Amino acid sequence: TKNVAVLTSGGDAPGMNACIRAIVLACERAGYKIFGYEHGYNGLLHQEYRLLNNKVVHNLIQRGGTLLHSARCLEFKSEESARLAAANLEKLHIDALLVIGGDGSFRGAAHLGRFWKGQIIGLPGTIDNDISGTDATIGYYTAIETAVDSIDKVRDTADAFERIFLVEVMGRHSGFLGLNAALASASDYVILPELFVSEDKTVKDIVLQLNERREQKRKNISYIIVLTENLWPGGITALAERLTTETRSEVRPVILGHVQRGGSPVSQDRLLAVKLGCYAVSLIAKGSTGVMVGEQNGEAVEVPLEATWTQPKLLEKLSVETLETLMNNRYT
Ligand code: ADP
Repeated sequence: TKNVAVLTSGGDAPGMNACIRAIVLACERAGYKIFGYEHGYNGLLHQEYRLLNNKVVHNLIQRGGTLLHSARCLEFKSEESARLAAANLEKLHIDALLVIGGDGSFRGAAHLGRFWKGQIIGLPGTIDNDISGTDATIGYYTAIETAVDSIDKVRDTADAFERIFLVEVMGRHSGFLGLNAALASASDYVILPELFVSEDKTVKDIVLQLNERREQKRKNISYIIVLTENLWPGGITALAERLTTETRSEVRPVILGHVQRGGSPVSQDRLLAVKLGCYAVSLIAKGSTGVMVGEQNGEAVEVPLEATWTQPKLLEKLSVETLETLMNNRYT
């Protein structure tokens, strides 16, 4: 038999619980003992854990957040911390550690791997989808759904007053969430890091588009712009002010914020979570280590942890093409 530990780290994402459940059940089937470390890497440093079993994960698949809680743990970057974590894992005779998190968490896992001989397997959990080696990450689809739902509501009020709204979505430094939320909500313009040319070009495009609409005398038309966080110099307020001046209409900023991290996971996230959870457990018997599990074109894959943050991840090609056809963005 083997002892397996799991933790959730970094930004939380809907579907992390579904993933924990699948890991626990798959471990029980394999006859492994399963430990859950709390609060990300902090739990490893403070030997804060609990034993998990099928009763603990009953009625859990649909719940947002994470049963094990997540956290940042800046001190984990030191060699001393990684050695302490390794010693704690050895005390519990852990054979394999499964880390559900984003690229920061995987850097942490690789760091630990330099001081601990056990198996380390990462599972991609982040709403940003900014991890190479997997088509999607656990939490991504739910975040799109949440953003779309909010933008639909903004659209209702925007239409009523023929207003221009600027909506900021998450994504860290990636445009996956912005691109797909904009497409699915029929937004009018989207500002994404991957396709960003310049501030002037963006503002010019929007003003041109609005002037065309005014010339057509289209009535009762609202205009919604989606903006990815961390992109605009000076932030969303600076852009809203500039657009208010240049369009001669009041532009209202809306920051969707942390609601995008919450909620019950949609089916796509639950499915990805359970598939990757089971696959990760199956790799323990195989001896895999220093890898992340992912899904590419419907197939389970293992990729080296380092590739998840060193390889660039490109936006879905078909979504970009659709954007160019349907929306008012002009990138040339
Ligand atoms: P995410 O996993 O969502 O990208 P963070 O970037 O906050 O979230 O990383 C989560 C945690 O992973 C950090 O709080 C830290 O404990 C650990 N971590 C991140 N980068 C490193 C690193 N270079 N070395 C060691 N640990 C790291």
